[in-house]
Amino acid sequence: MRKFYTTEGNTASKKRKEAYPILALCEKCVTQYIVINEGERTYDECAKCGADD
Ligand SMILES: [Zn+2]
Repeated sequence: MRKFYTTEGNTASKKRKEAYPILALCEKCVTQYIVINEGERTYDECAKCGADD
């Protein structure tokens, strides 16, 4: 099970989607990101490693 996380991306970007991308991440991969906000749980695959179990 993954969760949606609002993460810190390219903060120099004026586009909110690039500055603070919302990604579906597994527990393992989320540790590699700076998390701004934690969202809903999801069955989407992990945006980083592709885990979908
Ligand atoms: Zn992952």
